[in-house]
Amino acid sequence: MSTSTPAVADLSPDELRAFAERAGAELEGAHPAEILAWAGRTFGTDLVVASSMGDEVLVDLAAKAVPGVEVIFLDTGYHFAETLGTRDYYAEFTDIRLRTVLPLRTVAEQDAEHGPRPHERDPNLCCALRKVEPLERGLAPYTAWVTGMRREDAPTRTDITVVGWDARRSKVKLNPLAAWTQDDLEAYVAEHHVVLNPLRQIGYTSIGCAPCTRATAPGEDPRAGRWSGTSKTECGLHT
Ligand code: SF4
Repeated sequence: MSTSTPAVADLSPDELRAFAERAGAELEGAHPAEILAWAGRTFGTDLVVASSMGDEVLVDLAAKAVPGVEVIFLDTGYHFAETLGTRDYYAEFTDIRLRTVLPLRTVAEQDAEHGPRPHERDPNLCCALRKVEPLERGLAPYTAWVTGMRREDAPTRTDITVVGWDARRSKVKLNPLAAWTQDDLEAYVAEHHVVLNPLRQIGYTSIGCAPCTRATAPGEDPRAGRWSGTSKTECGLHT
């Protein structure tokens, strides 16, 4: 049963959009923990965090600011073992309720239908089947969702707001880390002893599926290891 405040639960999509945009303006400059706590109070169980377990700071912050918060993890079938281990750590040792969402088909079933290694031949189709569709299904029950996106991640993300409107899904979308820099993240990790995906120690600055992610060299763009050697820069979850 929803525990959203009635004021929010009863809003029309247009009213909810205006509410989100107003909140985004008011919360700009607030600490991510404050934004998350506001979201927890405002949306209750209609709030969900979407995590790839390559955004450990977000999960740490959410677990502390919104104890018991629901977190969905899209298990594409192509994750590094270290990423699955990170998921299992956060599920067991922090105050989140983790839901792993699976694609409609296993990797073997998808290979039989579309041919093997679709990530090499048609990564957009692969992401659509193994990330985008599961995300839509996973988000369906919620009014508001939280991502770990930051403005400095990519040129396509420079205008994201801390609270805004996801018009494609008619949901409130929160990016509480939007304004944080890499230095801000590292300072938080050091101060709060955040448990990181072990791949961080061997140069993985942005972590996605194993076939589509490589470590980066010092000084390289942190996202240069994603779909390296192709023009693809986004999986389609945030368009
Ligand atoms: S990131 Fe690569 S392996 Fe993962 S869903 Fe997209 S194309 Fe497939």
